[in-house]
Amino acid sequence: MWCFSLQRRSLHSSLCLMKKTKSKTPAEQRWMQRQLKDPYVKASHQQHFRCRSAFKLLEIDDKFRILKPGYSVVDCGAAPGAWSQVAVQRVNSAGTAASACDASDPDLPRGTVIGIDLLNIPPLDGAHFLPSHDVTDLATHAKLLELLPHSRAHVVLSDMAPNASGFRDMDHEKLILMCLSLIDLAGKILQPGGSLLCKYWDGILAHELQDKLSAVFGSVRTLKPNASRKDSAERYFLAGMYRKQEKRL
Ligand code: SAM
Repeated sequence: MWCFSLQRRSLHSSLCLMKKTKSKTPAEQRWMQRQLKDPYVKASHQQHFRCRSAFKLLEIDDKFRILKPGYSVVDCGAAPGAWSQVAVQRVNSAGTAASACDASDPDLPRGTVIGIDLLNIPPLDGAHFLPSHDVTDLATHAKLLELLPHSRAHVVLSDMAPNASGFRDMDHEKLILMCLSLIDLAGKILQPGGSLLCKYWDGILAHELQDKLSAVFGSVRTLKPNASRKDSAERYFLAGMYRKQEKRL
């Protein structure tokens, strides 16, 4: 929630933040200074995104075109909702997507966006949120099957991350396990030919995840978008051309 509460503020309130840094610990002050200088934070204010992470998905989708009008998308770890904002625009789930002439096009098909998080997610036109839901929970999978049109998603997105403990290997392993659970979820809801984009923190188990993805997807790419901080272990796997037969609950 940190990025939502910070980024809802305008640039004007960034100045207030600077004043407040005086009462913060040195680590908090460094974090705030970094936020204030970050061009993606500024751009997210200007473009009304809830979080700078929107630019990671925009960059990936501009290059690989995984989100198309009419698609059904499941956004795992959706809070505060910036990826869902991007998905709503790109799949036209609010009916506001523009065509080449830059006006909303009533002929574009309407998609579906379902966002899931352990936390609360402020409402968003065009998205159906499942707050207080665990993506790894079978009850959440069952709910998705009910909510998705024809019980099928074209794309599963995951920017999920556990609370970092500070122990790099442990955090890496925890996130890899969460990503592996997405392969089970894909088996239930992802339609053949569909895509899975998932964040992981790089480490020794990354190859294991990559191998498991390669077993059920026709292509698996490793991505490090420009908007992902250079000094972080954050990476994304973009797996496309899903080919496994679907499994039911
Ligand atoms: N993509 C989001 C956006 O653009 O607004 C930011 C996601 S944030 C980096 C990671 C989120 O994953 C957190 O909100 C956290 O609560 C969520 N998360 C972690 N484990 C989860 C789980 N098992 N089920 C659902 N959400 C989870």
